[in-house]
Amino acid sequence: MGIFDRFRRKKKTEEAKPASLESQTDMLDDGLISLEEFEEWEQEQLSYKFEQGLKKSRDKFQQDINALMARYRTVDEDFFEALEEVLISADVGFNTVMELTEELRKEAQLKNITETSDLKETIVEKMVEIYERNGDLSDEMTINSDGLTVVLMVGVNGVGKTTSIGKLAHKYTQEGKKVMLAAGDTFRAGAINQLQVWGDRVGVDVIKQAEGSDPAAVMYDAVNAAKKRGADILFCDTAGRLQNKGNLMNELSKIKRVIQKVVPEAPHEVLLVLDATTGQNALSQAKAFKEVTDVSGIILSKLDGTAKGGIVLAIKNELGIPVKFVGLGEQLDDLQPFDAENYVYGLFADMIQESDTLEEKLEEDKNDD
Ligand code: GDP
Repeated sequence: MGIFDRFRRKKKTEEAKPASLESQTDMLDDGLISLEEFEEWEQEQLSYKFEQGLKKSRDKFQQDINALMARYRTVDEDFFEALEEVLISADVGFNTVMELTEELRKEAQLKNITETSDLKETIVEKMVEIYERNGDLSDEMTINSDGLTVVLMVGVNGVGKTTSIGKLAHKYTQEGKKVMLAAGDTFRAGAINQLQVWGDRVGVDVIKQAEGSDPAAVMYDAVNAAKKRGADILFCDTAGRLQNKGNLMNELSKIKRVIQKVVPEAPHEVLLVLDATTGQNALSQAKAFKEVTDVSGIILSKLDGTAKGGIVLAIKNELGIPVKFVGLGEQLDDLQPFDAENYVYGLFADMIQESDTLEEKLEEDKNDD
């Protein structure tokens, strides 16, 4: 089954989308829908969020691909070079683009595809394949099922770190976990207060000390408090001063050592927050953070704010770090676990619908004959 067929089936289930989480939960509680139906509904909601959040990228990509195909009708070297430019301008990443177009050249030859419009589905297919190829990286957040999970959050100022911590706290609280926050960014003026505001909003405890105090001391307090209060997950904010890598490395190592005195196997995750709208800059930040600490996953914020959503592919392929969550908007529930299929669907929904319309038209023409 081709990739467009897979997505068409997805679309069919999505069309019957009912209203809110509350109403669905009520229906589940009242036995009006089964757990399977509830879970199916949750999946549909997720696809919908990706579709909404990736609108800018999808519009741009669709426009560029259509323009490209109008300009180059036959599959030749000029077409591939122009396609490379489109993909690079979508932040897919140079090496990934080269890998992709190389495989497309071979595939076009193999399948004897001579018209560019016939190559659309193969382009999408190859993108999914490339994403899934290095698939041994898990997209899921590691949760310690037997006690406290400690998650260190790193990233430079302004990328959406505090907002992402707030959204994660909301997500896991909703799932019935007891969440706590540690205000470890004692350097930036206002960071502690900003985290407290999120704590109040979401209804979780924030462990903090005065501005300027030693972040490792805050973490030590926080991990102890989290253990004592029986918390399931502790999200630890940290100061992301990349200007001085040596300092940052020492600070993060000290934080880890201190945490490990209380929970030896912690931290269970080190999540790096990157702002999708900063493109190649985000990639450089990731490389720099990789040098100072073991980053286990990426939170890509503000994916809804960029037309260059290809960056997800570049991160996975060129850095070897999985994207675990993506920010798809400013609402509390707009930080979602990353899902490759929903991501690709979000990027290409219009193309798939367009190919549906074309097929329907061909079908009609056939019936008219
Ligand atoms: P920090 O300095 O890294 O802690 O950044 P903040 O959490 O304060 O976020 C900076 C700005 O980005 C705020 O205005 C947030 O509302 C906004 N923001 C964060 N995540 C997202 C997202 O996924 N989508 C959108 N549209 N805005 C976001």
